[in-house]
Amino acid sequence: MFFLANWKMNPSSLKEGEEILKRLKKFLLKKPKNVIIFPPFLYLFPLIKKFKDFFNFGAQDVFYEKKGPFTGEISPLMLKNMGVNFVIVGHSERRRYFKEDDEILFKKMKACQELKIKVVFCVGENKKERKENKVFEVLKKQTRFFSQKVFPGFLAYEPVWAIGTGTPCQPKDAKKVFSFLKKRFKKTKILYGGSVNSKNAKSYLEAGFDGLLVGGASLKPEEFSKIVSLN
Ligand code: PEP
Repeated sequence: MFFLANWKMNPSSLKEGEEILKRLKKFLLKKPKNVIIFPPFLYLFPLIKKFKDFFNFGAQDVFYEKKGPFTGEISPLMLKNMGVNFVIVGHSERRRYFKEDDEILFKKMKACQELKIKVVFCVGENKKERKENKVFEVLKKQTRFFSQKVFPGFLAYEPVWAIGTGTPCQPKDAKKVFSFLKKRFKKTKILYGGSVNSKNAKSYLEAGFDGLLVGGASLKPEEFSKIVSLN
């Protein structure tokens, strides 16, 4: 099982980030298997330095070019050279606030794959699309550029309406999506994300998911340690 912690644009200082990991380490007692922490870029490298013997780390985003005039961006080559082997691509917040579309996201995935950086590719429908029974149609569209050669190591089903809302997708509904995605992408680990907490986490693993992508709850060490302990 894989447990991914997406910290998003939190916490407000490196010190607080260090504190979260120190406390998480205490709750876990021994090195957990397959836990990957995705802090903001600014904290990524100091945290790797301090906690690399205990946790794996990844980046929350990446650009698709290797280098050049792309102010503010971080390239897959930079990540690779800094020892980062995981990256989230296509989080719904990137799609929504930064207008990243399926074509751009596929380019990012391809650029990462060329450097053997494992991509956690996020997909999921919004509220309106679920109401209109368009879930599978949306997922087909969001994955339409995937090919035999270029596909993600991890595919996270994250219904947009469930992210950060406290309203998770019912496990029985998520299970249908898991089967749909697993059938199409047999070699990919399929994760669930969207208002996961220590009480509901188990139900997604029982539904078949290979792991969880956790946002809010991953910033609470005791809560996240309970989720990770399901491994
Ligand atoms: C996420 O950030 O991908 C996420 C699923 O957030 P939350 O767990 O807070 O819903």
